[in-house]
Amino acid sequence: MIEQLRYESDLKEEEKDFLLYQTLLHLKNLPYGEKSVVGASIYDIETQRIVYANSVSANDERNDNLWYHAEYMAVKLALEGLINPSKAIVITTLSPCINESSYRAHESCTDILLEAGFRNIHTGMIDRRQATLDKYKQLGFDMTVTQDPKLSKICSELDSFFNEKPSNHLQNFNKQDFLEDILKELPNLGTV
Ligand SMILES: [Zn+2]
Repeated sequence: MIEQLRYESDLKEEEKDFLLYQTLLHLKNLPYGEKSVVGASIYDIETQRIVYANSVSANDERNDNLWYHAEYMAVKLALEGLINPSKAIVITTLSPCINESSYRAHESCTDILLEAGFRNIHTGMIDRRQATLDKYKQLGFDMTVTQDPKLSKICSELDSFFNEKPSNHLQNFNKQDFLEDILKELPNLGTV
């Protein structure tokens, strides 16, 4: 996909944004009924392997608000796919969670990423309910945020799902239309 890249420092801003674009395209292309408002991918710069993931319901009978986050799913796929964390960049549409949450079926995505050895992150937007960019850097992440206005706008609109409809974010009735509406702004330029 991206040729002649070997190390994270070789990745240009537009190449990171291309990966973010592909991550949004992954969300857009999810089958009806499997839509998710957060996507994550992990790209191994050395082998050029890439995995795409999104948040998924834990389908827990006792708690129907329980989720596996996109980063958790991406790390799982990356490790199964033999992606080397030290040679990889994590792309997220929203920066990783840090806080405790009873709506999450695992430890925080920040802990999961750090424990697995992932340091490089390019994100669509910083989740200020969780941390600032400085805080993420203090924790050991080498994190960049997209400067592309279009990608930034789409990621922020996806995030607004949590702000504007907190009580609905675990129900599906509005989710499909919400996503279709936002992601239609994403042009069909590339191939996944
Ligand atoms: Zn998370």
